[in-house]
Amino acid sequence: MKVDFLIIGAGFTGATLAERLASAGKRVLVVDRRDHIGGNAYDEYDPHGVLVHRYGPHIFHTNSKKVWNYLSQFTEWRPYYHRVRAVVEGKEIPLPFSLASLRALFSPRLADKLEEKLIAHYGYGARVPILGLREAEDPDLRFLADYVYRNVFEGYTLKQCGLRPEELSPTVTARVPVLVSYDTRYFQDTYQAMPKEGYTALFRRMLAHSNIKVLLGADWREVEGEVRFDRLVFTGPIDEFFGYLHGPLPYRSLSFGMEFFGEPWVQEVGQVNYPNEHPYTRSTEFKHLTGQDYLPHTTLAYEYPRITTWTRLWPEPLSFLRRSSATEKFCAVIVTYNRKDLLRECLTAVLSQTRPPDHVLVVDNASTDGTPEMLKAEFPQVEVLRLPENQGGAGGFHEGMKRAYEMGFEWWWIMDDDAFPEKDALVLLSRYSSQAEDLVPLQRNVGGSLYGVGYWKGKYVSVWGNLGNSTR
Ligand SMILES: Cc1cc2nc3c(=O)[nH]c(=O)nc-3n(C[C@H](O)[C@H](O)[C@H](O)COP(=O)(O)OP(=O)(O)OC[C@H]3O[C@@H](n4cnc5c(N)ncnc54)[C@H](O)[C@@H]3O)c2cc1C
Repeated sequence: MKVDFLIIGAGFTGATLAERLASAGKRVLVVDRRDHIGGNAYDEYDPHGVLVHRYGPHIFHTNSKKVWNYLSQFTEWRPYYHRVRAVVEGKEIPLPFSLASLRALFSPRLADKLEEKLIAHYGYGARVPILGLREAEDPDLRFLADYVYRNVFEGYTLKQCGLRPEELSPTVTARVPVLVSYDTRYFQDTYQAMPKEGYTALFRRMLAHSNIKVLLGADWREVEGEVRFDRLVFTGPIDEFFGYLHGPLPYRSLSFGMEFFGEPWVQEVGQVNYPNEHPYTRSTEFKHLTGQDYLPHTTLAYEYPRITTWTRLWPEPLSFLRRSSATEKFCAVIVTYNRKDLLRECLTAVLSQTRPPDHVLVVDNASTDGTPEMLKAEFPQVEVLRLPENQGGAGGFHEGMKRAYEMGFEWWWIMDDDAFPEKDALVLLSRYSSQAEDLVPLQRNVGGSLYGVGYWKGKYVSVWGNLGNSTR
């Protein structure tokens, strides 16, 4: 097969390019490894007939008339202004933090005073980044800034990204302003709406051109030898494209849990954020976004942060598991909880192997002893998957092996944080990789008895049993 353009990825970027090129007379093949078009904006009907966004809620908003007009060729729109609330001290307050939030939280007297000062200092309608507000000289404004920082921003940022707000780039923190107005819309863009029949229908129309062919469920590596093309457009993770030549890029990742409710509505607005409680960061009730008001039941998505120093995957629902490529690569998976000194020794032994693992993943079972800081300072090359709560050894290994599986590693070298492999352990084990599905090297604990640390080859195992004693 010969095409002018081979486009990898059927999301917004791939679909737009494909449509534009096809309309200019080019022959295009679009390939996506997912089994659907739409990329992260994909939506689908769940078993109860609720239109849900599999990879997290997507609200369309832009200031560009050109973008709006272009997409309007492929969809009608449903007017929608996204409204978000945050739960703070048991009250639901509007987000972004605005004059309306002041009223929801404080006594009328205090709210009046703060409102007056905010307008006097910044002017009605201003958007003040929270970190900027913290530098205000006025003690009342600083009180407000500290309050918002502590109760709305800090917990959410820590939960979401594993970072304090000041560690984030100002371009990120500027996205979370205090609004000196009563505008309770989450976005202020000129054009805000939802595709009337959903995103997938929009993408289907974009890709319906007779010059476009679409191949789903295929990784581009599988087709590169089969298709001849003049130009390639790759819209996936660029570090993966180059085989992690310069190491993996730092991405943030998420998991979603969908929950069905037998009642018509659960939330008053589309999204509720939980900066201070629950393992999830936010919940979204899709019916607000999509307008399926007529349904007597509803579905909500709960969003769980997956804090990693990097991840090459975009958000995937928990049930979406697949081996991405058949590599003979080794990923060390180490589960830890509050034993940073042992972990340090373990990592040192793992990283100084004569044949080092291709990737090292530490699953931190919500340690509270400074483990994240130690890892960040001393082992920046290691991926850290921090769980929102201690899930025990079984839960930790479950998450770690799932992650290693998702990343396409053929072999997972799994161990507790108190295992200290000999320097040549991995090279010796790898010699047997063609002869067995699972390898369990014998090891000694300090008491002298033997125990095993296992390799699980290429197969996703959802339940993990305790293999035995640890070395200390
Ligand atoms: C949780 C979440 C919420 C968001 N909310 C909003 C929002 O409300 N409003 C908004 O405007 N934006 C939102 N975004 C951003 C939006 O999702 C992206 O801007 C948009 O999806 C980017 O489109 P894309 O085509 O570049 O990438 P993607 O949508 O990620 O599409 C890339 C495609 O490439 C495929 N691919 C990758 N590698 C390969 C390979 N090797 N072989 C074959 N196929 C491959 C992937 O499977 C994927 O389908 C959100 C993003 C997330 C994660």
